[in-house]
Amino acid sequence: MPIIIDGKLVSSKILDEIRAKTAELKSQKGITPGLALLLVGNNPASLTYVNSKRKACTELGFYSIVEHLTEDTPEEKVLNLIEEWNNDPKIHGILVQLPLPKHINELKTTLKIKPSKDVDGFHPENFGRLVIGLPGFRPCTPAGIVELLKHYQIDTFGKHVVVVGRSNIVGKPIANMLYQKAPNANAIVTICHTAAKDLRQYTRLADILVVAAGSPNFITSDFVKDGVVVIDVGINRIEDSSSKKGYKLVGDVDFNSVAPKAYAITPVPGGVGPMTIAMLMKNTYLSASGEITYEA
Ligand code: NAP
Repeated sequence: MPIIIDGKLVSSKILDEIRAKTAELKSQKGITPGLALLLVGNNPASLTYVNSKRKACTELGFYSIVEHLTEDTPEEKVLNLIEEWNNDPKIHGILVQLPLPKHINELKTTLKIKPSKDVDGFHPENFGRLVIGLPGFRPCTPAGIVELLKHYQIDTFGKHVVVVGRSNIVGKPIANMLYQKAPNANAIVTICHTAAKDLRQYTRLADILVVAAGSPNFITSDFVKDGVVVIDVGINRIEDSSSKKGYKLVGDVDFNSVAPKAYAITPVPGGVGPMTIAMLMKNTYLSASGEITYEA
């Protein structure tokens, strides 16, 4: 049986550490980490995500603001609110929940957030810092993957990592994190996307396979070699009449077929998913404590 990489366990350890450090930061320096969350519209998944993030703030003793604006809010109002938070010393992190309504330009909003408060790590300055190996906020889901590998002592040095997916929030950043000449990195990285004629040809070469494609259960045992480490980022809803909700969540990897060949594998749910909020909280803490510096 493979090692089942337990994201709930690792994320709760990280959250425990942040809770303790937050108490110290408050008592020693009088600083309370503050996170501002912006939600525009009523996308049900976004509502759930924002509520979970707010709950995590409360549990850690953070200060938080949730601004829930209507779907028809003008772009200018959103930009003005971000500017207000950029200048508010109680706020150390700003998160704009995506997706935004079509009339609000996502890139414009991301660019408006001060890089030193961009705890989602989506601002091009933070992405550039990641690429050239400078300190900065790293996107939360990829940062969570690195923590999982670290926790399970899965060495990446000289290993061949194959990433399926090139999104700006998962595929590109995780690839960039893992090839850096740095601890918990130094891997040889291949990035695949839909232009790959025969995806198997690449994925079978992976020592560590990271899949972030958004296609349910499509990585089957014939895509991997024996002993592979599989990180399944996918979260897909599929119909399930036996569940009260009428659906269940599955990853991009067909767990039952791939697990017997794997050395270690993340389940869905309970693998990468829980790490994202933990890393958001960690980034907010690091912003408040000043441990990430933006000086050259
Ligand atoms: P995305 O923006 O939808 O992009 C998907 C990427 O996968 C694209 O680069 C696409 O290639 C590639 N792709 C799709 N099908 C493929 C195939 N059959 N063969 C090769 N490449 C393929 O992806 P995302 O936002 O990164 O999300 C990916 C999945 O991760 C989703 O299920 C999402 O829900 C999940 N996710 C989970 C978390 C979390 O756990 N907290 C966070 C973020 C995302 P092209 O570029 O050529 O189109």
